[in-house]
Amino acid sequence: MSQHNDWAEMQTALRTASDIGFAEEMPTGEQAEFLVDALRRALVAAQGLTTGPGATGCRIHPHGAIDPLYGDKEDPLPPGWGKCLLCNDRRRRAASARRRAMPR
Ligand SMILES: [Zn+2]
Repeated sequence: MSQHNDWAEMQTALRTASDIGFAEEMPTGEQAEFLVDALRRALVAAQGLTTGPGATGCRIHPHGAIDPLYGDKEDPLPPGWGKCLLCNDRRRRAASARRRAMPR
């Protein structure tokens, strides 16, 4: 992703986050999930704006966020997973979709 895209993405995400965060009513659970998602996207995009080589080691998201669980000894990531939070989130979603699809 180019830095200009990151910038636009960050602004969109921050606008969404502030719409929810500064609404007159306290956000519902679902709105709070949107807020978390928007803030995460803003964070990843903002990190894309920082200079220097990407730290994720990911070819698709070299400037993405690093998975906070990377290197966690008590809750290690599955083997083969990298540092990239975006890729790991995608793997997590795929894994939970598979669990939901399994017959009980
Ligand atoms: Zn990635």
